[in-house]
Amino acid sequence: MAPKLERFVSPGKGNGLRAAASIRRGELLVSTEPLACCVSKKLVREVCHHCFTRLETLLRCSQCKTARYCNITCQKQAWSVHKRECKCLRGLLPRFPTDSVRLAARLIFALVCFWTFSLFCSLKITDLTSMPEQKKQGLSQLASMLELYLHEEVPDLTQESKVHPSCREALSLVAKVVCNCFTITDGELQESGVGLYPSLSLLNHDCRPNCMMVFEGTKVQLRAVQDISPGEELTISYIESLSLTEDRQRQLEDQYRFTCHCQRCDSEDKDGLMLSGEEAAWCPLKEALPRLEELKHCSHLLSAAGGEVPDENLYKLRITDMALDASIHLQRWEEAMRYGVKTLPVYRLYYPDPHPVHGIQLMRVGKLQHYLEHIEEALDTFKQAYEVLKLTHGDDHPVMTDLMTRMEECRCEVDHKSSSRH
Ligand SMILES: [Zn+2]
Ligand SMILES: [Zn+2]
Ligand SMILES: [Zn+2]
Repeated sequence: MAPKLERFVSPGKGNGLRAAASIRRGELLVSTEPLACCVSKKLVREVCHHCFTRLETLLRCSQCKTARYCNITCQKQAWSVHKRECKCLRGLLPRFPTDSVRLAARLIFALVCFWTFSLFCSLKITDLTSMPEQKKQGLSQLASMLELYLHEEVPDLTQESKVHPSCREALSLVAKVVCNCFTITDGELQESGVGLYPSLSLLNHDCRPNCMMVFEGTKVQLRAVQDISPGEELTISYIESLSLTEDRQRQLEDQYRFTCHCQRCDSEDKDGLMLSGEEAAWCPLKEALPRLEELKHCSHLLSAAGGEVPDENLYKLRITDMALDASIHLQRWEEAMRYGVKTLPVYRLYYPDPHPVHGIQLMRVGKLQHYLEHIEEALDTFKQAYEVLKLTHGDDHPVMTDLMTRMEECRCEVDHKSSSRH
């Protein structure tokens, strides 16, 4: 465990982590590789199965024809883990197991030391007996799939001496993996895979957490986004924090089976602001959200119904974000920049602490401004991104290196512009 963190029993929440000394905002608390990880099912063709880099063309494993790699080096390094997986994948073709099944199998193949495995096995899971019938059935299906998938390599899990006794049953192993897996995201905060980081599984949830997780490849970094006093509990958010109290609570109940009593929930902080404007005016935005995909819907809605709705309204913000994504996709840069700029003050309002989502949004808008030669604005946006990302990502993260290069380019262009004016 990192020196400044200690395990404790958090009242009403079970195990947790707390600060053993004062922690400054932006401080790096944990930096660790996963016990096991795997690329998301929907991205198996797009992401390197070893380093999780997204590339247009990847080298394919000639045996299972499924695993893909940047190059020979990644493929070679992955072989110790992939060797047994490769056989299992071939045995199951044309079917392809879900993420949690592949992740559970990888945990067995990873040959982790008994002690590390014990740490994973000691993690809390939702009590299977209190689980709704539907969820239990889902887990049993995953467990049968895991047994089928492992068959070639591990015909009988209960006889595996390398696996900790408490995980020698497919159902309990799968349940532990499902309860403790983290979604791994890339520099743009897009999902790339899932991984197990037992030391971080102890972190409890808060809707305004004092820590953030950021990934670099498969490595995770945990940083403080608030100053934390000794004895104070460390928290992360399990869900997207930019949503209404009611929706956050429902999601936490459904997915994690607890009722959140954090300060933000108890005070229903910012709910009123997120629903600002006349309900009749923002209702069409809310109703259209689930069906929206194309830019023309977004821009039509924003100009028709959205005109009367304040920018702070949550549904308007979500649609503006979708319009930004769609315009980028369609390479309509001017439009994209306009939508992006509109979201920034709202993001600042709803992310009072440094948050990766806010930093990356600033970075996206800065890139658009830079590309469209609004250099002064771009530089200003990049500076704001810097203030957030230095705390959430730290100075050495590739996203920061990219940001610094872009800021330097902007500064040169500004200097060049001003010197050519004289
Ligand atoms: Zn790679
Ligand atoms: Zn293979
Ligand atoms: Zn809460």
